[in-house]
Amino acid sequence: MALAVPPRLLAATVGVAVAAGFLATPSGGAVEPTGAGASNEAVATPDTERLLEPTPGAQGIGDRYWPLDGNGGIDVQHYDIVDSYDFDSGTLSGTTTLRVRATQALSSFQLDFLLPVSSVSVDGVEAVHDRPHRHELRIAPATPLVRGERFELVVEYAGKPGPIRYARERNWAADSDEVVTMNEPHMAPWWFPSNDHPTDKARYDITITGPATHQTISNGLLVDRVVDGDQATTHWRATDPMVAYLAFFALGRYDVEQGVSQGLPWYVAVSQELPDAQRHRAMTSLKRSPAVTAWLDKRLGAYPFESTGGVAPSINVGFALENQTRPTYSGSSATHLPTIVHELAHQWFGDSVSVRRWRDIWLNEGFATFMEAAYAEKHGGRSAQQWLRAQYDSRRGDASFWRLDLADPGRRHIFDEAVYLRGGMALQALRHRIGNRDFWKALQGWVEERQYGNGSVKAFRRHVEQVSRTDLDRFFRVWLTAPRAPAVTRPNGLR
Ligand SMILES: [Zn+2]
Repeated sequence: MALAVPPRLLAATVGVAVAAGFLATPSGGAVEPTGAGASNEAVATPDTERLLEPTPGAQGIGDRYWPLDGNGGIDVQHYDIVDSYDFDSGTLSGTTTLRVRATQALSSFQLDFLLPVSSVSVDGVEAVHDRPHRHELRIAPATPLVRGERFELVVEYAGKPGPIRYARERNWAADSDEVVTMNEPHMAPWWFPSNDHPTDKARYDITITGPATHQTISNGLLVDRVVDGDQATTHWRATDPMVAYLAFFALGRYDVEQGVSQGLPWYVAVSQELPDAQRHRAMTSLKRSPAVTAWLDKRLGAYPFESTGGVAPSINVGFALENQTRPTYSGSSATHLPTIVHELAHQWFGDSVSVRRWRDIWLNEGFATFMEAAYAEKHGGRSAQQWLRAQYDSRRGDASFWRLDLADPGRRHIFDEAVYLRGGMALQALRHRIGNRDFWKALQGWVEERQYGNGSVKAFRRHVEQVSRTDLDRFFRVWLTAPRAPAVTRPNGLR
């Protein structure tokens, strides 16, 4: 994500309230109580048997920044999202089919979703569902699920995403003629039921129906577009693993250009609602995406996905976002080359290698910001070390810039400027400290070994220490967690 100000879409009134236990069921039917442990404790069951005994999946995946995000006991492998959007009423309706693997024996499990649900089935059999919290859809299959079992889950829903708030976010960005589903760390629950956490990646088919006068742009490759009367249905497919918040669609009147560059398909789209001059500038600049992708590919190792490109909607949400294969640039960010470098660098740092927990956000934003400086260095700008020293000198006396713990910034601060800028500076300092060769070897090894997986700040430190055969404990503490500016020394990468 690259921010304009203000940083978030909208402030909201509602915080996260973790619902405990079983609540009345607004959508009918009783689900068995969650009373975890009660029956287990009554009988002295050996651990192996306990694993086989069906229990409810946890309501969160275990990320303390957003305890309801993700879910326990399930691993989604594929989403087939079929949605249609009605601009007049602001209603989104659809059916999502999920192919899921049970990672434990399950009597019930949950998904993250905010729209009203009309029916749920598991392997073709209707399943009881309820909402223990408005962010959670709890599903009790007619027959408990065995650990390791693969099943097909179908969820039907309809509702108005516009007014819905969750975790201080109101994410639906739409006007009377255009909609774009972009945000981080949450977006999926506004338009499809998901296991909404970076640690559960899946492949996607995304099919959107809207006015035939409009285009739908989404992730991956365009499969087909079928026009039926005044409606068009457009099908996109993301064949590489993807995190739920990086799935998106934009529906509006768009100019589209596409091609293949060095074997890699690219697809860029610019809203026709933008003023003419901006529209043409945005298209010219987005068409540099394949060349920027190719440069990053040389620096970081093979581009991890099946296509590249970008989208410039007319709706300005105040930031650009690294939606997988197709970053989305709102406002003037599409014409700002450093932002294009930033969002495409995220394809490696954030999209292919995703955070393990949201506290690891430095691995996304610090790295994408550093790549802006590395790109400038090779394209007529100052050296990244000059950039580091200039930033350091101008920020040295700014106590608040150095106070934030970049290895655990807190959920309200994951998009603070320090995460980006100090985070990027820390990487250039690291490069200066361990040398160019080991530094790029470390980055390339990191994205290669963890392709389509996850990483933590701690694991990155260990990885770099191994590659450079250097104890970097103090370096990482000084740059990431110490609440003050690092001293200008050689070990701190500043001399
Ligand atoms: Zn970013």
